[in-house]
Amino acid sequence: MNSNVSLSNRLKIVAGYLPQGACFADIGSDHAYLPAYVCQKDPEAKAIAGEVNQGPFDSAKKTVQFHQLEEQIEVRLGDGLTVLREGEADQIVIAGMGGALITSILETQASIAESVDRIIAQPNVDAREVRRWFDQHGFTLIAEEIMAEQGHIYEVLVADRQINVFSPYNDNDQIKEKQFLLGPYLVNEKNDAFIKKWTWEKAKLERIISQMQQAKQVNYERMSEFQTELNWMKEELYYEGTNDETC
Ligand code: SAM
Repeated sequence: MNSNVSLSNRLKIVAGYLPQGACFADIGSDHAYLPAYVCQKDPEAKAIAGEVNQGPFDSAKKTVQFHQLEEQIEVRLGDGLTVLREGEADQIVIAGMGGALITSILETQASIAESVDRIIAQPNVDAREVRRWFDQHGFTLIAEEIMAEQGHIYEVLVADRQINVFSPYNDNDQIKEKQFLLGPYLVNEKNDAFIKKWTWEKAKLERIISQMQQAKQVNYERMSEFQTELNWMKEELYYEGTNDETC
């Protein structure tokens, strides 16, 4: 059957950062909805859908067969980037996982990750780890988005392997750390989803700090790190307008 593939708004944002005629790998593809959507819209696109678990791998195969996209999408079973050989993909998508897992998938096969032109990551949490990985592996963060869908807030990070490209980060290490946490583009835009996320994170961190203060043995070093992060959140939540000076 060749009916239209439907996709969440979150994954539509991810799809929007793939070029026409993309040749990409979607790692942790689950039902392979993203590659199916992209390849159905763009007959020139090609995709490898990678899955580590048998159930999602079977679901991905079914989606590809159902939409008759076997010519464009290959579904492969395996852990992270082990399903890919160098040169097989120009873009990598890793969406819907925590930042630590995304980073570990990139790090475990770093030579494969570093061989592509673009990585699009959609970490559900800990986007900071992904920004840091990009920065340390020669990828320039070229765009970020933050959006709300069905009660959750999602971040999408897009990084290109390019030299001599404008870096969004400040030279000052402390300010750069703040940018890793909040997002160098998102912090300037400060849309509703950004305000919602960081208002919630601020309240969570205040609770943690208060609990740490009451503990029998206080970890002052960790508490000081948390206090710094809390100050960054407050600075941005209570600052009106763009903030090029500080971040
Ligand atoms: N990417 C889809 C999305 O954004 O909607 C699916 C996200 S789903 C929450 C995470 C998927 O990643 C699961 O299907 C899981 O089996 C797969 N996964 C987790 N760790 C993986 C790994 N190391 N390699 C490949 N797939 C993995």
